[in-house]
Amino acid sequence: MGNRKILVVAAHSDDEALGCGGTIAKHVDNGDDVFVAFMTNGVAARGSDDGSDDRHVASKSALSILGVKKAFRFDFPDNQMDTIPLLSVTKEVEKVISELSPDIIYTHFSGDLNVDHQITHKAVMTACRPQPWCSVKEIYCFEVLSATEWNSKSLGTFLPQKIVDITNQWDRKTSALECYAQEMRAAPHSRSYEAVEALAVLRGQTHGVPRAESFYVERIVE
Ligand SMILES: [Zn+2]
Repeated sequence: MGNRKILVVAAHSDDEALGCGGTIAKHVDNGDDVFVAFMTNGVAARGSDDGSDDRHVASKSALSILGVKKAFRFDFPDNQMDTIPLLSVTKEVEKVISELSPDIIYTHFSGDLNVDHQITHKAVMTACRPQPWCSVKEIYCFEVLSATEWNSKSLGTFLPQKIVDITNQWDRKTSALECYAQEMRAAPHSRSYEAVEALAVLRGQTHGVPRAESFYVERIVE
């Protein structure tokens, strides 16, 4: 493989590292070009307006560790994407897709508790309506600790269907997460380094590899 275009569409900077940091690095190792789009500015949830600069610097470092080629950054309001018409969000996603013509997209799971994650998922699915000219042949949803497992259990459950062995990329994933130290919490919070490692070990060792990231398969067209 190699020479494929991969697009990660994430609501917040840090979701890409938590959800698919190892998989991004593995795509890069395999010769694929990886691009990331962040939908929100990441300010309001932290309650300060100097936060966005810190988060921007953190995300630039994280993306360079993972080998991402280019980031697209949008300015939708953090934790308030439900105040924006879905059409406006979808249009931005569509612009990125028409510029890149990605083969594969990674994005949020539809059943995450976080509203920005839900809307980002919906915008991606809308932008990727499987019309004949749609370049996107594979869509995978990642899991983000403290969002994917926090929603009501009466909703659709995240199923770990695609398993990516990230043992050789694990160090880069943890280094990327260290850039986002301000977003991490102390154990036993689910957004702790310990919980991230525990999930990688669980996803890996229930499938016979040391560490893995797993994905809900939304679409594969061959
Ligand atoms: Zn998020």
